Amino acid sequence: MTVAAAAQDPTRDVPSGFVPGGFLFVLSGPSGAGKGTLVERLLAARPDCVFAISATTRPRRETETDGVQYHFVTREEFEARRARGWFLESAEVHGQLYGTPVHEVDAQIARGRVVVLDIDVQGGASVRRVRPEAVTVFVYPPSLEALLARLRKRATDGEEVIATRLADAPGEMAQWVHYDYLVVNDDLDRAAAELIAVHDAERARVKRLAPRT
Ligand code: 5GP
Repeated sequence: MTVAAAAQDPTRDVPSGFVPGGFLFVLSGPSGAGKGTLVERLLAARPDCVFAISATTRPRRETETDGVQYHFVTREEFEARRARGWFLESAEVHGQLYGTPVHEVDAQIARGRVVVLDIDVQGGASVRRVRPEAVTVFVYPPSLEALLARLRKRATDGEEVIATRLADAPGEMAQWVHYDYLVVNDDLDRAAAELIAVHDAERARVKRLAPRT
């Protein structure tokens, strides 16, 4: 197997008697930084990655499908799930509730997958606390102007939603210092290549090799 193929193969070449271990791959950054597009690029390039589908109380955008980008639930349903311990972490972000289902995440890690979380900075802090072995990446926008342009381009959110997200951005951006890696998304191709490089390096870490049972 070539080096490039090994990096893309979920069962990448490892010494016999060992299997590659899965891990949590956390992406945070302000709304409009381009996390969603970067996640799409990563998933397309690396089949060992799976996206963790969060639950949210936010209204579904026209471009979204229930069970694909999110599990869309009512506030009552969200609270009930939270009380039952369904979430690895949950947070109120821009006035809506979001949470990462713990069972999906752990089942995929047990299968040796890289589980990709697109979560806000509060979620990032929670994951660092409960799963310190997680790999965390902060996606930084080139500027606030670029962020506003991207939020406007989305065209599915009203002015009020855009204003809330823009107002929250500086506080979120200050949190980059707590992450393992920083990816500045000024050029999508370069930023995606950087994210994939982080994945490949982390995937190759000797400490993640587990003895085959
Ligand atoms: P959006 O509404 O634009 O899809 O997401 C808004 C923010 O919520 C983004 O910063 C996104 O990363 C974050 N988010 C999405 N899912 C989760 C989650 O499960 N937990 C947390 N803490 N944040 C999330």
